[in-house]
Amino acid sequence: MKKETLLYVHIPFCKQKCFYCDFPSFANIEYLREDYLNALKIEIESRCKDIEFSSLFIGGGTPSYLTEEELRKLFNILRNVKFVHGAEKTIECNPGTINKEKLEIMKEGGINRISFGLQTTNNNLLKEIGRIHTLETFEENFKLSRDIGFKNINIDLMFGLPNQKLDELKETLNYIIKLNPEHISFYSLIIEEGTAFYNMYEKDILNLPSEEEERAMYSIGKEILESNGYKQYEFSNYAKSNKECFHNIGYWKLKDYIGVGSSSSSFINNKRIKNISNVKKYIDNININKKAFEEILENSKKENMEEYIFLGLRMLEGIDKRDFKDKFNLDIEEVYENEIISNIKKGLMIQTNERLKLTKQGIEVSNYVLSDFIR
Ligand code: SF4
Repeated sequence: MKKETLLYVHIPFCKQKCFYCDFPSFANIEYLREDYLNALKIEIESRCKDIEFSSLFIGGGTPSYLTEEELRKLFNILRNVKFVHGAEKTIECNPGTINKEKLEIMKEGGINRISFGLQTTNNNLLKEIGRIHTLETFEENFKLSRDIGFKNINIDLMFGLPNQKLDELKETLNYIIKLNPEHISFYSLIIEEGTAFYNMYEKDILNLPSEEEERAMYSIGKEILESNGYKQYEFSNYAKSNKECFHNIGYWKLKDYIGVGSSSSSFINNKRIKNISNVKKYIDNININKKAFEEILENSKKENMEEYIFLGLRMLEGIDKRDFKDKFNLDIEEVYENEIISNIKKGLMIQTNERLKLTKQGIEVSNYVLSDFIR
């Protein structure tokens, strides 16, 4: 079987840094954009030739924050990259940074999936988490994308936000469902070090929902989404039939991927490659020696197996035992016999001849189950 390889392109620019965000994205470095795209061209030309990719994900940062001219340049660079016929090609867009022309450029560039970062429909909450847009801007942008002809759209939502109430979350979900997107990502807020929220959390001035409220938000969210035709296929991801994100599933199945751009990671032929995080340094290094690597690590078989389990069990369908055997030349039941038996006994896992997966209860305590497999 032909090996699948995914392509990720990182665009590290944002108009403003959201208060919860620890992604490698930056505001106020717009002056680097032109040089960054030139560097990206060199990296793509040297690393992507001779590969036929199965999907593309342009993420960030805010790719849609690029100007029309810059977007054209990006798609011109990508024009020389080979993709399998019908490959899923996603771009992340933030409301307030797109217009008709940009969407048309994306469409002409082969994009067939848009992922909108919205997080909540409540305008007060949007302001309080540092988003640059209102619900009205989002809705305008969403409708414009439909008018341009995008038939596969994801919307990112968050729960567990400071000052968020269960009723507000229900309103958000019911509102979004009416717009009928094909895919909804439904994440809980995690307070990450280095973010504005982390500082507020340290000072004890962040009014977060209790653990109990957060659990209720997860369950009610799941219930609302599922009763409206969105099937949960991963802990935080819901999709209409056949609209699951192919690219992300590739990550969870430990497929090969190449990440280009600052801070991006690659996993290719068993090697983990981490690109330079600092945007200026990334550009300089590419210009000096055409290399963007900061670190190359060769994973051990044990590390790869652990990662495979860790990611694979995030999917509701679980792990394909035959795929594990094909990848590692070992039976999963032999390698993890004790862990599997004990979790099945506790009602946290189930297995068939083909698959191994978490039960509903297992998903609720997934951290606990997954840590069992890390030795
Ligand atoms: S727009 Fe996205 S990448 Fe940029 S700061 Fe906000 S959450 Fe982070």
